[in-house]
Amino acid sequence: MEENTLQKLKKELTHKTEEKLRRSDMLVIYQKWCKACGICYDLCPQGTLAADKEGKVYIRYPETCTGCRICERHCPDFAIMVVGNPRKAPKANTK
Ligand code: SF4
Ligand code: SF4
Repeated sequence: MEENTLQKLKKELTHKTEEKLRRSDMLVIYQKWCKACGICYDLCPQGTLAADKEGKVYIRYPETCTGCRICERHCPDFAIMVVGNPRKAPKANTK
């Protein structure tokens, strides 16, 4: 396979993976509203969120989210929302 084709496939796959991770049992991210300010992933105490190559947020470690709503409360654009039940979430990592 040509290197260009391989790179294209890789890019597409990465993009699709990032797309998928805008939604989890606990969180929904409205990508169009996200202005890539970084507040949510800087404040998340669990390290659940990360930035994609455009600086927009995606859910990197969905299983770590405790539903604390810090990201939701601080997002200036209402682009991230907790939709799951925090009672069913793992306990906060206090380390
Ligand atoms: S705080 Fe809101 S606008 Fe800023 S990166 Fe997070 S989701 Fe996007
Ligand atoms: S709800 Fe809390 S733990 Fe989950 S992503 Fe937002 S800030 Fe992080």
